[in-house]
Amino acid sequence: MSDEGLSNLLHEERTFAPSEEFVAQANGTAELFEQAEADREGFWAQKAREYLDWETDFDQVLDWSERPFAKWFLGGRLNACVNAVDRHVEAGHGDRVAIHWVGEPEDDTRDITYAELHEQVQRAANALTDLGVREGDAVMIYLPMVPEAAVAMLACARIGAPHSVVFGGFSSDALRSRIADAGSKVVITADGGYRRGKPSGLKSVVDGALEGGENPVENVLVVRRTEQDVEWTEGRDTWWHEALEAADATHEAQAFDAEHPLFILYTSGTTGKPKGIFHATGGYLLQTAYTSHVVHDIHPESDVYWCTADIGWVTGHSYIVYGPMTLGATQVMYEGTPDTPHQGRFWEIVQDKKVTILYTAPTAIRTFMKWGKEIPEKFDLSSLKLLGSVGEPINPEAWMWYREVIGGGRCPIVDTWWQTETGAIMISPIPGVTETRPGSAQHPIPGINAVVVDDMGQPVEKGSGGYLVVTDPWPSMLRGIWGDPERYQETYWSRFEDMYFAGDGAKLDEDGNIWVLGRVDDVMNVSGHRMSTAEIESALVSHPKVAEAAVVGAADETTGQAICAFVILREEAVEQADEEGEGQDLVAELRQHVAKEIGAIAKPRQIMIVAELPKTRSGKIMRRLLKDVAENREVGDVTTLADSSVMDLITQGMKEG
Ligand code: ATP
Ligand code: MG
Repeated sequence: MSDEGLSNLLHEERTFAPSEEFVAQANGTAELFEQAEADREGFWAQKAREYLDWETDFDQVLDWSERPFAKWFLGGRLNACVNAVDRHVEAGHGDRVAIHWVGEPEDDTRDITYAELHEQVQRAANALTDLGVREGDAVMIYLPMVPEAAVAMLACARIGAPHSVVFGGFSSDALRSRIADAGSKVVITADGGYRRGKPSGLKSVVDGALEGGENPVENVLVVRRTEQDVEWTEGRDTWWHEALEAADATHEAQAFDAEHPLFILYTSGTTGKPKGIFHATGGYLLQTAYTSHVVHDIHPESDVYWCTADIGWVTGHSYIVYGPMTLGATQVMYEGTPDTPHQGRFWEIVQDKKVTILYTAPTAIRTFMKWGKEIPEKFDLSSLKLLGSVGEPINPEAWMWYREVIGGGRCPIVDTWWQTETGAIMISPIPGVTETRPGSAQHPIPGINAVVVDDMGQPVEKGSGGYLVVTDPWPSMLRGIWGDPERYQETYWSRFEDMYFAGDGAKLDEDGNIWVLGRVDDVMNVSGHRMSTAEIESALVSHPKVAEAAVVGAADETTGQAICAFVILREEAVEQADEEGEGQDLVAELRQHVAKEIGAIAKPRQIMIVAELPKTRSGKIMRRLLKDVAENREVGDVTTLADSSVMDLITQGMKEG
């Protein structure tokens, strides 16, 4: 991939140093890099003792003898829930708010302190034990964004029962296959949840998943949220609040082996059938807490942190539940969508709760750009000190908008690269140290060794593209794919010898910064030139009329692959186009714009103006579906799509266009 096409595409040179004020208070310092460099295992051992309370100290840091199956902190025993909850209460912080919960209906809010959380997790742990859940039993959680989701996860961790959280938006079918895969005996759900102003049913979806055919589920615990009517199966279904009331208020937590499985989580499915990734307790908890501290720069005594992810994907696990709570942070948890009841909802929450750290996804940022900066400008966002991004490459234009409009030009941005598989942040600026560069995740964090390599597994030179790999095991690495050790080995450890292949393409710029370009399957080959979808998308988004773009390579007889772009316009541009009927001119203008930004070779063969793009529930664009459209194929598996009607709209538009 060291072809010129790819290496000359981006020429971003702007950098932003953190302010003196930020540096003075920052948790992460340049010494971390030196310490990790000098003795990596010693570094992690020291961090493990700094960030976590161990019931039994470990006697070996890493066992890599059965690679690619790693073991960290051997002999160590701990309880994840005790680390995330009990010890903060014991240290006298019981009155600190753990969760400022904001429901989607306005004025529906609850504050939960660490002391209250402590009582809840103890009762829930007892309730689960009363239902017969034992160490090692998988529990399925299918909940909306309510505090009970965190309580349920922590209660499972407390009794050593790995949880398997499934998005509150998935269908009965998706649920059924995940229940079977993990063999869950207990499902924790709710009557329903609020989305876009309406209560939608969850219990009914669980009922659907358990209908007909064999399944291992013996009990369903139901949180009352919307108070809508639900069907009830006597002997199987129990109200969560009744079970907790009936349970003992105190629960003595037992410690588990550092390698004890903490949870199973399915990936978002952008590349095909989701994989059941599982994580172990000690290393995962360490790396999520450490990164919450040095990357998100959380100061538990003063910050108000907000991660907008859903609890149903890994960002919610690592950066709502385990990382921030292990530090004893105060955070916001929001139930609904960013436009309910109005498009300023996020900014109203930042203003009201005085949020200091905001962690969200590029897809959300581009949506806010589309709505216009007038909306956030109506709110006081001066409490913010740090901004974070995760989930997809963030285009330099979106990055700049985030910095200027949301961060007031004052807040460092951390573009954090990681995956369900990596468990925690791997590549990111350290905000008090790194001079940030728009669009680049930049460098591995201290303690992580990752590089960009060529086809032969050799590190590429500056200015070249290749594959992103992790060269050494890391504490929060996946321990495998649930029930399928071969697929684990095959998917991640077979492409390059002794290196973890993340599946992502990346480029090293002239200054040695890593630019993650997205999935290697998303790299196109046009007349022998390798081009990344991310770079063409960035060029399109840098046009003032474009809010979002998705690019795919469609089979083409003459060029091998041809570039097809799907574009969403900014609100002002849509109105204009409607008035002037200038759709065709605009397409020509956009093609020209890409040619100017990147080169004539990158000009899309086809640009479709669309109202929506197909996205997973975690907000990622499903390029494989757009590719199906561009190649006139039947559209593939849409089960993890947030809104499946989007594909019908696009296919329809394609036929008419
Ligand atoms: P599947 O593996 O089932 O196809 P997925 O890879 O989308 O699903 P996740 O584990 O949630 O599921 O996402 C990880 C991927 O998200 C990364 O491999 C990368 O492609 C992308 N990603 C995450 N953060 C960033 C980032 N900061 N910059 C660029 N890409 C990112
Ligand atoms: Mg993946």
